Amino acid sequence: MSDTASRTMQGAVLTGPKSIEIREVPVPNPGPGEILVRIRAATTCGTDVKVYLRGGHPRMLKVPTLFGHEMAGEVASAGEGVSQYKPGDAVVVANSAPCLACENCRLGRENLCEDLHYLNGAFAEYLLVPARFVERNTHTIPQGLSFARAAITEPLACVLHGIEACELAQFGDEESPVEVIIYGAGPIGLLFVAALAFAGHHVIVADPNPARLETATALGAAKSIEIARGGGQSDFVRKATAGGKGAWIAVDATGVPEVWADAIGSIRPGGLVNLFGGCAPGTTVALDTHLVHYSEMSIKGVYHHRPATVKQALKLLSNPAFQADLLLSGTCPVSAVQEALESMIAKKSLKIVINNDDL
Ligand SMILES: [Zn+2]
Ligand SMILES: [Zn+2]
Repeated sequence: MSDTASRTMQGAVLTGPKSIEIREVPVPNPGPGEILVRIRAATTCGTDVKVYLRGGHPRMLKVPTLFGHEMAGEVASAGEGVSQYKPGDAVVVANSAPCLACENCRLGRENLCEDLHYLNGAFAEYLLVPARFVERNTHTIPQGLSFARAAITEPLACVLHGIEACELAQFGDEESPVEVIIYGAGPIGLLFVAALAFAGHHVIVADPNPARLETATALGAAKSIEIARGGGQSDFVRKATAGGKGAWIAVDATGVPEVWADAIGSIRPGGLVNLFGGCAPGTTVALDTHLVHYSEMSIKGVYHHRPATVKQALKLLSNPAFQADLLLSGTCPVSAVQEALESMIAKKSLKIVINNDDL
C-alpha cells in the first residue's frame, strides 16, 4: 500500500446534539505498532443513537469527532513493528482496549479497567488502530464470515459478557433450560434472545413494538409479549412464566429506570436481575427492601465486554446457524449516517450497515 499521508477520506463527524457533518479528512498513517484498517462494514448501535442525541458521551467521546464503533475491515497498511497483521488481512477491532495491569484487569474484569481506552471513528473509509488495540483487542475474521456479520462482534461480546453474569448454571443445566425474561427487543435485547435461545434456554421477551417481537420469535423466543411503555408491567409479564411464579432471571435491555423496576419485580425467590441497559445519569429506582431481602434476590449491574467475550462472539457469529443477520435492516454509505440513525430512532430499523462498497 502506498503512503496515504496526502490522501483524504470521507468521514461522519459528530459536531453536537443531532448534528453530523460529512467531511473530507486526512487518511491517517500508521505509526509504530499501529495499523490502518479500511472499513468494510460498520454497524449502527443504540450507543451511537445516544451520542448523536446528546452530542457526545462522558466516557467515550467528545465533539467534534469521528464516531461509530462496531466495525470490520481489511488491514490497509501496518506501522513499524507490527508482525501479527499484514495488508489484506480481515479483522475486527473491538472498541476498547484494557491496560492489563490494574487490579480489575488482573482479576479478569477488563471491562472495568481503570484505564480503559475507547476507539471511535468507524463511520469513515479508514480507521487508525492504536497500538494498544492492535495488541489486545484486534481479531482475525474467520474464513467465510462476512464483514457485515463480523461487525456485530462488539454488541454480541457485550451480550455474551451479560449472559456470563446471569450465572445460568445456578438455575439449570442442559436437560432443564432456564427461564429468562428479556425486557426490550432492540438490537441488544434481540441478541440476548438469540444467544440464550441458541443455547437452548426458555426466553420470554417483552417489548411494546410488535415488529420487534416478531423478530424475537424468529430468533427463538418461546414467548413474545407486547407490553405498554412506561413501566408497571411486571405483574403482567410474570403471568407468562411457569406457574406464574416469575422467572429465574430477568434482564433489562432498555436502560429505562421504570423497566429496571419491572425486571426486579419479575423474578422468583432466589432469582437474579441483570441490569444491562445503562440509564441516564442521575436517575434512580425505588427498591422493595422487604422483597429483595426475604427473596434473596441477586441484583447486578452489567457493563461492556472483555477481550475473552469478543473472541467468543466472533466464534458464535461464524456459525451460520446463529441468525444474526436478522438484526441487519439495511445498508447505506457513510454520507447517510444521519438518516440511518434517524431511522433507528423512528424504530424503522434495528441496525444499519454503513459501508463504502457492495458487500
Ligand atoms: Zn455498540
Ligand atoms: Zn486495567
